[in-house]
Amino acid sequence: MLTLEQLNQELFKGGFAWQAESGEIPKYHPKLSSGLHSNTMYNIGAATADVRLRREMAKAMAKMIVEKVSPRYPDIDWLVCPGYSSVQLVAEVARLIGAKHSGFTDKTGNGSMACRFNIKPGEKVLPFDDAITTGRATSLSLSAIMHVQPDVVLIGDCYCVVSYKEEPERLPNVPVSPLIRPDGVELYHKESCLLCEAGSLAIAPKINGNWNRLLAQT
Ligand SMILES: [Zn+2]
Repeated sequence: MLTLEQLNQELFKGGFAWQAESGEIPKYHPKLSSGLHSNTMYNIGAATADVRLRREMAKAMAKMIVEKVSPRYPDIDWLVCPGYSSVQLVAEVARLIGAKHSGFTDKTGNGSMACRFNIKPGEKVLPFDDAITTGRATSLSLSAIMHVQPDVVLIGDCYCVVSYKEEPERLPNVPVSPLIRPDGVELYHKESCLLCEAGSLAIAPKINGNWNRLLAQT
């Protein structure tokens, strides 16, 4: 099993990072799915697609959940993630911790999320995600779960692989427990982005070719 430091390095392979001290302004910088601009981007999608790395992530996440959650909640009914990006990871973690179900809420196309599975009253749900920035997706996901089953028991924190912020603003009452909290990550609102001000262009990494544009400059 990889140490957290090794896992961090592996996850960040193929990532983008810019340091102000370098003095150089990159032509492009990432616009995250939260809408925020950043000097750093982990390619969690690529890491999750790597079977070996996904297994390592799952083992580390399961270990953390068992240590932190299981003493209080030995039986977890559901692990639920927002959207499809962590579906494979969430299934692997659910199996490792002995949860009964794993599921995902999905986008409805009108800015909300829907929960299509049948959670029973009193069942215990652990919110889960791969990466959290503002917490918007997680917040929508929790609303979708509560909409289908208001009598669900949400188990404490939202567990995730990477969290860029100490307190994501869209999750004011939900503490976040990340496996990895990366150093040196700066997040900017577009109106006050240092990189944009310096003439760098913000691009969405998931759109065709943009990931390669970001990486080509590192
Ligand atoms: Zn910017």
